[in-house]
Amino acid sequence: MNKTKQIVQNSLDALMKDDTFIPELTGETRAQAFTSLASILSTPNHVHKSFLRIPLENGQVVRIPAYRVQHNNALGPYKGGIRFHETVNEDEVINLASLMTLKNALHDVPFGGGKGGLVINPRTLSEKELHLICKKYVRYFSDSLGPDKDIPAPDVGSGEREMDWMMAEYKSIRPGTPYRGSFTGKSVVNGGSLGRREATGKGVYFTFRYLFHDFLQNQKSLLTKTDNSYAKTVAEFENKPMKLAIQGFGNVGSIAALEAYQCTFLQNKVVAVSDRNVTLYNEDGLNIPSLVKYTKDNKGDLPVSAEELAVAGVKADVLNREDILYLNVDSLILAALEDQIRTDNMEKIKAPIIVEGANAPVTKDADEYLSQKGVIIIPDILANAGGVIVSYLEWLQGRETQFYSEEEVFSQLFKKMKGTLDSILPVFFGDSFTLRQNCYIQSVTRLSTVLYRQGKLY
Ligand code: NAD
Repeated sequence: MNKTKQIVQNSLDALMKDDTFIPELTGETRAQAFTSLASILSTPNHVHKSFLRIPLENGQVVRIPAYRVQHNNALGPYKGGIRFHETVNEDEVINLASLMTLKNALHDVPFGGGKGGLVINPRTLSEKELHLICKKYVRYFSDSLGPDKDIPAPDVGSGEREMDWMMAEYKSIRPGTPYRGSFTGKSVVNGGSLGRREATGKGVYFTFRYLFHDFLQNQKSLLTKTDNSYAKTVAEFENKPMKLAIQGFGNVGSIAALEAYQCTFLQNKVVAVSDRNVTLYNEDGLNIPSLVKYTKDNKGDLPVSAEELAVAGVKADVLNREDILYLNVDSLILAALEDQIRTDNMEKIKAPIIVEGANAPVTKDADEYLSQKGVIIIPDILANAGGVIVSYLEWLQGRETQFYSEEEVFSQLFKKMKGTLDSILPVFFGDSFTLRQNCYIQSVTRLSTVLYRQGKLY
């Protein structure tokens, strides 16, 4: 059983014992309802798989595996990104789709969970080839997609250019039907939302900052008067400078790094960042704006040598890519790929706080091991929901053809995330569950209630 399924099952077990949850369900009927819930939440509703036939510019014709998984739509249309990466596989897409179901439920976003994937390395393909792949993806899955059915967005390796192409293809396949809400993460000129590109990274940093500033200030007595070891860890950071390391310097990682660099609430220093090639380290703090500029000018990659660092105007030691994980820092923000902290490296982790900007970057065993050691892991479904929250705002704006200012978008984003944090954090510091378990319990409770009211638990 993978980590997601296991924690969903644990949440269901806890809920089954809670007499205040749907008290009218008793005895065998209650047991049957929970069996139904377990089967619904542990399996996707649909797994669509196709092989896209693509003629490459060199004359070769390839078949590219493409997936669209629709996990659950109890709360609204399926929603989730499309990953362009050579390691994409069916199990991974299913797991990511189920995380989307839980994430939307946790933040009360009226969407279900879906995810897509293409087994390609977009860096090795020309613009023309990528354009054709995007068009064919929409064509192959067109019956399943749509503003009220399933709404994809960008993920690793894809961005607004791909969403613009896909929406255009959707529009030409279904002339005369609403199309702006068919894809989110589009460019602003094409009906995208201001702030969507920055939303996930901003939300990741907001979650961290909210815990160590706003919540710590406002709930000091809760944090200091309890025996909860996680609460003690947070309280110890009051007014203390914090050293941060951020793995991944793409859409999520670079924005989270910029937010940390510019933060006036905490005395943060981003001492390390990394990407697919290197880790850069400076114990006095890295110049993040200069690194962001460098990556924009260099196809997203960080400088890897003394010469390139000089071009970037940044002082740093160049370390191996993996080294970022083992640094002596206060917080490690994971914003690259999944399975970064595993059984084989979990003992080397020194950071007492881990923030999951990426989806599933800590494996099940590593999660248990680190949590038992008292490490606070701010889970993916809590921390990285900024993208889907602003995707929801983009979808709304597309329906209304009324567009919000960037200020309005960020204000709504932070309000939504604050609402979730305020409902989760006091419970977390008052019980013996991890933050991830608390988030899952809240998501599963919401989904179970809706499924019950919809008459699905037979
Ligand atoms: P991205 O493609 O923009 O950036 C990925 C970054 O990770 C790049 O800097 C890349 O060089 C780096 N990287 C790749 N392999 C690496 C490795 N082995 N070690 C270290 N770094 C590596 O992707 P993104 O949009 O920033 O997404 C990052 C993560 O966040 C993914 O798990 C994604 O699912 C998740 N996420 C993204 C969004 C979003 O809105 N973009 C929303 C929610 C979750």
